[in-house]
Amino acid sequence: MAKCPHCEKDVTLASAKKDEGALEVHKDVEGVVKKEVMYSCPHCDRVLGFAFFLGGIATGRP
Ligand SMILES: [Zn+2]
Repeated sequence: MAKCPHCEKDVTLASAKKDEGALEVHKDVEGVVKKEVMYSCPHCDRVLGFAFFLGGIATGRP
């Protein structure tokens, strides 16, 4: 199980098996073609990290 580096509470990604007591990290997607995903802690709202991927025509992702 992952822990938030800021508040050290348990967090889990949406696709992972849910562990008791762990909240999903928040995932905010910005952009139309170049997607930027920001993950943030559901407990303290601090940013955990960013992910980047191409969406739309290139990959068929929404
Ligand atoms: Zn936190």
